[in-house]
Amino acid sequence: MEHPENDSAYKGLKVNSGVTEAPTINPYLKKRIKRQQYTVSEFVEGILKGNITILSQAVTLVESAKHEHQQIAQEIIERCLPFAGKSIRIGITGVPGAGKSTSIDVFGMHLLKQGHKLAVLAIDPSSERSKGSILGDKTRMETLAKEKDAFIRPSPSAGSLGGVARKTRETIILCEAAGFDSVFVETVGVGQSETAVHSMVDFFLLIQLAGTGDELQGIKRGIMEMADGIVINKADGDNVEKAKLAAAQFRNALHLFPPTDSGWTPKVLTYSGYYNIGIKEIWDMVYEYIAFTKKNGYFDYKRNEQAKYWMYESINDTLRDTFYNNPAVKNMLEQTEQQVLHNEISSFVAAKRMMDLFLENISK
Ligand code: GDP
Repeated sequence: MEHPENDSAYKGLKVNSGVTEAPTINPYLKKRIKRQQYTVSEFVEGILKGNITILSQAVTLVESAKHEHQQIAQEIIERCLPFAGKSIRIGITGVPGAGKSTSIDVFGMHLLKQGHKLAVLAIDPSSERSKGSILGDKTRMETLAKEKDAFIRPSPSAGSLGGVARKTRETIILCEAAGFDSVFVETVGVGQSETAVHSMVDFFLLIQLAGTGDELQGIKRGIMEMADGIVINKADGDNVEKAKLAAAQFRNALHLFPPTDSGWTPKVLTYSGYYNIGIKEIWDMVYEYIAFTKKNGYFDYKRNEQAKYWMYESINDTLRDTFYNNPAVKNMLEQTEQQVLHNEISSFVAAKRMMDLFLENISK
């Protein structure tokens, strides 16, 4: 008998034979997609010409988990690198509801009016769980989304925060090669993602709200320390005075921090994204910072430090992936974990055993 459960002794249980799953991709479509594939040179040429369709497809390759896509993506990135690096990269963070999308729409239009080209990217480590990004979404930036000089891309969704961040960092390179001279990287101000964003931008902007008078509570000191500018949004209507008060509190708090590495004193401003008030002042501040750090050498120093950081991040990522994907490791990991949980071996002995196993099987 094929399935013992189908024996009459097991009343109520019946195993049905499986059905073949329908293909997830329409086979006709697959053919069409194949035909549209560009060569690496065509990708690079298209990107350098500022072709948005080709840029988008290249970013899709960067975001793909498939090995063959990664290989092409890496070649494209390498060939775009000499044309990258010329933009001003700005990290924008704030808790949900702080007004990030409203502000990015307005900030973006402000930059486009001055003749800039803007790419808006996002890092949202929660997007894998929620199956779709809440950041960098076109529908959230309605005005900007209609502009040909704006390129909006939601957060890559696959993998760890480190993986997501690396993809965004690589996407910056492609956008710069495509002629975008301003890049925003948006993130939610609630967790680890700020550190990742901070490691790839020139200026870090923290959007805050005035509230109960306890503005400083609940913001992690680390996030404030990273900020080159703190901007209090929704300074409109009845809220203007409260926003000014919040700004004063932030200024006082910043005085207590040690001097920044850049030599720049972070500024605190109030504005209203919704009513378009105080936007120019924010951009004057950003450009003042850029000029200041270019002059004292910090701009280039920070970019070099970031390049170094990303080299080590990539090494760490690759090491971790190689370790956990190694068949011998995969095979023994759970069993070893159980031994640790049952106090049969210590965590350190377990780790050493797994590492030894990995090193013995590394090329297999
Ligand atoms: P996000 O979650 O940080 O992207 O925030 P949104 O941009 O979606 O804004 C959250 C809410 O605040 C929306 O209802 C906006 O209309 C509102 N909002 C955003 N900026 C302002 C502002 O400057 N003033 C006022 N009064 N409301 C604003």
